[in-house]
Amino acid sequence: MRIGDFPPDVQPHLIPSPGGAYRYECLACREHFGIDHLLYTCPECGSVLLIKDQDWNRLKSIPGALWRRIFDFRSMVPVPALRGIYRFHELLGSILPMEDIVYLGEGQTPVIEANERLAGWAGISMHFKNDGQNPSASFKDRGMASAFSYLNYLIKRRDLKDVLAICASTGDTSASAALYASYLVRGVKSAVLLPHGKVTPQQLGQPLGSGARVIEIPGVFDDCMKVVEYLSENYAVALMNSKNAWRILGQESYSFEIAQWFEYDVGKLVVVVPIGNAGNITAVLQGFLKLLDLGIIEGLPTVIGVQSRHANPVFLYYLEPDRSKRLFRPVDVRPSVAQAAMIGNPVSMPRVIHLVEQYRGIAGTGSFQVLEVSEQEIMDAMLLANRNGHISCTQGGECLAGIRRAVRERRVDAGSVAVLDATAHALKFAVFQEKYFSDGFEPEYEVSPKEELQNEPHLISPPEGVPRPSQDVRLDPTEFERFLRFSGEAIAGLLGLKPR
Ligand SMILES: *Cc1c(COP(=O)(O)O)cnc(C)c1O
Ligand SMILES: [Zn+2]
Repeated sequence: MRIGDFPPDVQPHLIPSPGGAYRYECLACREHFGIDHLLYTCPECGSVLLIKDQDWNRLKSIPGALWRRIFDFRSMVPVPALRGIYRFHELLGSILPMEDIVYLGEGQTPVIEANERLAGWAGISMHFKNDGQNPSASFKDRGMASAFSYLNYLIKRRDLKDVLAICASTGDTSASAALYASYLVRGVKSAVLLPHGKVTPQQLGQPLGSGARVIEIPGVFDDCMKVVEYLSENYAVALMNSKNAWRILGQESYSFEIAQWFEYDVGKLVVVVPIGNAGNITAVLQGFLKLLDLGIIEGLPTVIGVQSRHANPVFLYYLEPDRSKRLFRPVDVRPSVAQAAMIGNPVSMPRVIHLVEQYRGIAGTGSFQVLEVSEQEIMDAMLLANRNGHISCTQGGECLAGIRRAVRERRVDAGSVAVLDATAHALKFAVFQEKYFSDGFEPEYEVSPKEELQNEPHLISPPEGVPRPSQDVRLDPTEFERFLRFSGEAIAGLLGLKPR
């Protein structure tokens, strides 16, 4: 649509221009720092940072109702960046000039309502938001678009040179970082660190295909994270993990899109998110708080974080109801099918604690909850989701198992509507489906397949004497006729077909 064809009141706001006064704020010592340089942790005390807009209140001169119209109309403007997460420019990166924004098709992911069968199983009306339909097939692209747009801005406007973008990953961060780095022509190289044997073959193939240096180390993700932290403290590298607060900003778009999809009426929603390094849950909480503050939404949805019993430090932390007695303890993880969330010491924990205080302060204790589910529940739920038209990864299965539990434990109102985060595409985690179907799980996973959820290909194998076609030996017409008759009848019998 052409700008002149939009309603007059939104026209002046359609194309964002840079504004705001961003700075890093330390959650521990409250010190703040400029954004001319990339910072990951507080130079004073070492704690994690969040990005705050000092000039945020200027956005309140536009009423919530007009913001809603601006965001809705922007998705129709033929500017690529506005088709993705930057249609919420003022809320998640307002200092960036539009021409510095890197857009690879992230955001605007579909929200798919569950059919009656699956909703009946979970006990609640619900939707999956398919973040696996982002360019690198996980939600990480939202944060990466933000972090790389900022990096691009530093390169173009602040003369940043010879950037080496580096990250530790449970698989999807590296796929995403490598993808965005490969797009930037001027001076960005990328290297990713992976725990050897702890990412799926698909996830390993992605950064290799994007041309990143892929380095594997022994151990688990938490060990990898320590190594990149060492590198970022001692060498000039751009850390692309969610310790980088720009990642959080971009991931807030997930909340904005949910609000937009549900016509900004989110009070009765239950938003369910898997928790690993806790960057995503941080962004989801902060995103809804921002919308509320600007009057774009009128109430906060309930947010439920889900963890596997094999990697559950956030769950354990919130088990203690008395917040003065809560004590965060990292855990040693055990093998988990929700491998992308298999993290025992989430770097965003201080952010979560900070935002949950605010969130519960406004919407009550029940508005934020963390649940724990078993590996068996995760696998069964994922397979069931995908047998009902979804394309959920294991972490999406974790959300489904989580909401089912929440309903059974009466933690959510029966009249609520759940939105589950299918954080990655099912294909990335095909190995776990394969293990399930072939009953091949190592005992540590504690998953045994249910027959009704298993599936395997059925090979039609002609007996001795019936000709078989092959790539090399083509059959003559009479021979092929015999093969055709044999295999046709075999399949008809197998499927119980009725003659026509
Ligand atoms: C990274 C990731 C998670 C965990 O998100 P955090 O922000 O680390 O909590 C969950 N699912 C998938 C598919 C991921 O890639
Ligand atoms: Zn500090």
